[in-house]
Amino acid sequence: MAETFDHIKSQLQELEEKSPEIQELTQSLNQRLLELYSLYQIGLALSTTLDLDEIFKLFKRIFQQTLKVDGFGILLIDNALSTLKLHTSFGLPANSAKAKTSFKFGEDAFGEALMYEKIIHIPDISKQKRYSFFKDGTKSGSFLIIPLFLRKNNPVGILSLYRYKSNAFTPNEISLLEKIGEEIAKVIDKTLLFRQTKELSITDELTGLYNRRYFKERFEREVGRAQRYHRTLTVLMIDIDFFKNFNDVNGHLMGDEILKRVAHTLESNIRKADILARYGGEEFVIILPEIDKDHAMQVAEKLRATIDRKRFPKQENQPNKNLTISIGVASFPGDSTEARELLDFADRALYRAKAEGRNRIVAFDSSLQSHQYYYPKVPDINS
Ligand code: GH3
Ligand code: MG
Ligand code: MG
Repeated sequence: MAETFDHIKSQLQELEEKSPEIQELTQSLNQRLLELYSLYQIGLALSTTLDLDEIFKLFKRIFQQTLKVDGFGILLIDNALSTLKLHTSFGLPANSAKAKTSFKFGEDAFGEALMYEKIIHIPDISKQKRYSFFKDGTKSGSFLIIPLFLRKNNPVGILSLYRYKSNAFTPNEISLLEKIGEEIAKVIDKTLLFRQTKELSITDELTGLYNRRYFKERFEREVGRAQRYHRTLTVLMIDIDFFKNFNDVNGHLMGDEILKRVAHTLESNIRKADILARYGGEEFVIILPEIDKDHAMQVAEKLRATIDRKRFPKQENQPNKNLTISIGVASFPGDSTEARELLDFADRALYRAKAEGRNRIVAFDSSLQSHQYYYPKVPDINS
């Protein structure tokens, strides 16, 4: 794409030398070319990534290299606080540590552009008295503020652009930048939406299990239900033994593969009614509704033994030449009737399982209530 543009440009240059009319035409074609190229790059940004930081990096490149501005900033609306906050920038006047980075609706140039949904063009900063944003910063150059709107009354934020020279933004360019602003608003909106859905999702990307967020919410619900209907419930906290060692020796990718396999193995050894989630890095948690502690110990033992027997790739590199898990068990209502405490107790039991040598199950009992276990994280080669 870039080569094609360069080629057209050099042809235009040849023609340009021939007549002033052509010169004018060339200029407007150049403008058009720039417009298309920038829009093309922004489209590309959207199709390649939905990560806001990546998108911002791309925008910075487009504005710096293609559109040749000296300063750039994007402020986004924080709906909860109804303010505009600077999210990314370079080379803006007053772009120092002490510069103001957040503005209320209507406040200063940024807030005004947003409130009235209008472009603010300051051709010569040295002559303007209206906005205080420029007071502490550079005193010269030209500034352009473009509100980013999805449609009327649906603002996303503000794009601000700066050039060292005064009168550096031509009317043609301003209308081009307005169009670019529309595209940027769309890209940012999609990216924010994507981020939101990701946050709201209930599954863990790697293993496909429920994630921690969902687990917490579900666990509270299940404990509430057990309380109301006077039922029992048990929670298992599961942690892979020496998993840091596994990663260090076999690499993170192989570690991820093991996480998937362990998740799958656990999943295929529990009932449909049980709720399995990835709690954190190499920690899993299972809610066993209607299951008391004795029965839960049997389930836990089955899981431990299955993982113990199963052959995992590279497990021979583990300190005990095997990939194993440890499990802590706590039950409602015997150990606690409160969701958070129950989870904490299962975690304490897990700590004891680790301290007592790993590859084992420990049920919570009251002696653990006050006792805090510390156990060696680094495997003892001689033991
Ligand atoms: P212990 O037997 O005491 O549990 O030892 P450990 O090494 O398993 O425990 P620790 O908590 O020190 O280390 C957990 C390691 O799990 C750290 C990190 O290398 C690994 N880990 C956490 N999340 C992921 C992940 O998503 N992928 C991979 N590959 N590794 C992860
Ligand atoms: Mg752990
Ligand atoms: Mg571990």
